Amino acid sequence: MVLLAVLVGLCLGSFLNVVAWRLPRGESVLWPPSHCPACGHRLAVRDLVPVLSWVLLRGRCRYCRAPVSVRYPLVEALGGIAVGLPVAIWGPGFGAMRASLGLLAVVGFLSAAWPKAAA
Ligand SMILES: [Zn+2]
Repeated sequence: MVLLAVLVGLCLGSFLNVVAWRLPRGESVLWPPSHCPACGHRLAVRDLVPVLSWVLLRGRCRYCRAPVSVRYPLVEALGGIAVGLPVAIWGPGFGAMRASLGLLAVVGFLSAAWPKAAA
């Protein structure tokens, strides 16, 4: 159950990255699909696996080799912790969900506050 919670948290962290990047630019969080901000190439599913894709690609775009900020895997990992840790402590339930939402709000704030010039 904890592993499932971590996986859900990783995906939520990935979504928080999208929100933090696109909303300040007035872009939709749903369309267009994920793409490299440097070369515009649409990212494949294998490029979007939280944390793992960034590690395997050594922090660079697969298509243009532009650097990808460490913010992405960091926020994804924090999302995994934000959901996984409360479930590990209290088990699945309302208390864990409430704690996870609070922690995800903090993670989302950190993602939004990250200097985008370094992205
Ligand atoms: Zn690129």
